[in-house]
Amino acid sequence: MNDPLTRAIHQVRDWTYENYHWAYLAGTAVLCNSLFFPNPAHTIYAWLTCALLGAVLEPCVNPYRQIYGSNLGRLREGVALTFDDGPSEDTPALLDLLKAEGVKATFFVIGSQVEKYPDIVRRIAAEGHALGNHTASHPNLMICTPGRTRRELERVQQQIQELTGQKPTWWRPPFGFRSPWTQPVATRLGLRCALWTINPRDFQDPGASVIVERVMGALDKGVIVLLHDGLQKRGQTLEATRELIHRLKEQNIRFQLLDESDA
Ligand SMILES: [Zn+2]
Repeated sequence: MNDPLTRAIHQVRDWTYENYHWAYLAGTAVLCNSLFFPNPAHTIYAWLTCALLGAVLEPCVNPYRQIYGSNLGRLREGVALTFDDGPSEDTPALLDLLKAEGVKATFFVIGSQVEKYPDIVRRIAAEGHALGNHTASHPNLMICTPGRTRRELERVQQQIQELTGQKPTWWRPPFGFRSPWTQPVATRLGLRCALWTINPRDFQDPGASVIVERVMGALDKGVIVLLHDGLQKRGQTLEATRELIHRLKEQNIRFQLLDESDA
């Protein structure tokens, strides 16, 4: 990590994660240019096409845009810890920690994981945490039809109702990616969209202390923190969550479930 080249690569990668909607659009522009407008004289048409595509696509990938349906990105107060992509074999240790600390969190679960770990889903609900819908198979919903989107969400609603007797009221699109029809489909299933305020990118495995600093550095009133408890080993997330809880408690910050918010 100390040599300049590695540092530069990390910086570019971090910039891309922070600004991935712009990186995504720049990529689309270059692709569009080379595929459809190879003649340099026609470059202006390429950029016009990209501007148009950008206007349509950018709100699909930018978690803070509300053009295709409203989403919750922040609460009025406190801090909400949210965990995506579980449940997994790492979830019980996380639940043990939350129980010991008396903290409630929201778990956005994937249907295929729910199938593998139904007992953990029951435990999440029994211990007072909230369950959210993170689709059945974690697809990129930008490229899914309304029918596929409905099936992805409906399946998880059914699974959670069968296991806990309650249906989720919140959903979170995989990668935060939406399309013009995702929220209308979700609304018909009684689901409100919740995204996040802080994404400390624990999926990069940057080290527990880096995850903690990324959250503490962006801390503000009512932030929703995006963490993960599935799809890969989550030892660093567990360690970071322990430290985060201690640091937030020191500042007398209240932990909230999304359901408690009137934001
Ligand atoms: Zn996810």
